[in-house]
Amino acid sequence: MTTPVSFEFFPPNTPVGVEKLKTVVQELGALKPQYFSVTYGAGGSTRDKTLSAVMDIAGAGFEAAPHLSCVGSTRENIAEILATYRARDIHRVVALRGDLPSGTATAGEFRYASELVSFIRETQGKDWHIEVAAYPEVHPQQRYAARDLQHFADKMRAGADGAITQFFFNADAYFHFVDEARRLGVTQPIVPGIMPFHNYGRIAQFAQRDGIEIPRWVQMKMEGFMDDAASIRAFGLDVVTKLCERLIDGGAPGVHFYTLNQSALTLELCKRLGLATKD
Ligand code: FAD
Repeated sequence: MTTPVSFEFFPPNTPVGVEKLKTVVQELGALKPQYFSVTYGAGGSTRDKTLSAVMDIAGAGFEAAPHLSCVGSTRENIAEILATYRARDIHRVVALRGDLPSGTATAGEFRYASELVSFIRETQGKDWHIEVAAYPEVHPQQRYAARDLQHFADKMRAGADGAITQFFFNADAYFHFVDEARRLGVTQPIVPGIMPFHNYGRIAQFAQRDGIEIPRWVQMKMEGFMDDAASIRAFGLDVVTKLCERLIDGGAPGVHFYTLNQSALTLELCKRLGLATKD
């Protein structure tokens, strides 16, 4: 049996981006993913675009899961969004706190993602499949790893069906996190989130912002390639393939790819990993 895969997109901003994403969905859809997810701008900034991308994916015959962040939202806002999805037969969601842009007012009725998960379960019952976020290298706003882990376990206990991790390049961080979560009684699947090296500079910026370690030897090699895009691509593919192999061999229950709305690297990785089809 092949390890299940899922793919994440952001909602496109332009008509060209919308059309391109439809093609990407078809290309990645050939791998028979469990679902595609679409991110959501905290505070509702992409509400309509996320809905539209989710409906395009569902219209193409695939399971689609919107992300939904609760920071800055009222219960009424969230209930309305869930009702919109429910009316369109969407019952899968990635439930997040989100981050409001700095300087934005934080008024809202939810403080943490765990409250969103509880709210969905209390008001919507059992028929939503809820995924939440996990941070093998600790959430960047949390100083104490043990507290972050405890909050994660509380969030799972609030009613999540599974978790997707922040991206990482250190397999030991993932395995350690899973072991610790299991010790706290978390039984649900914790699926590693994998970021292909689409663009080294951009990924390095994300990693710096979110407190994710890129091993020094990988950084040094990547920086040494300068503008040699072919070498960056080849080396990045090797690094991420080996990471995924270790994760799968070590029992990861699936792989969630951060595609950045591109198919080529993800397709190549899935091919190398033998994740090309699922039956
Ligand atoms: P939480 O689980 O609420 O945790 C946030 C922080 O609060 C952590 O430091 C935690 O330790 C702390 N905390 C939790 N509970 C408590 C408590 N009871 N008391 C004190 N502290 C507590 N962002 C978006 O805006 N849109 C997206 O679509 C999006 N998708 C994502 C998908 C994935 C798979 C991941 C990993 C992240 C995604 N994010 C997205 C980023 C996410 O919104 C940010 O990382 C955000 O800062 C935290 O969201 P969370 O749901 O993990 O929050």
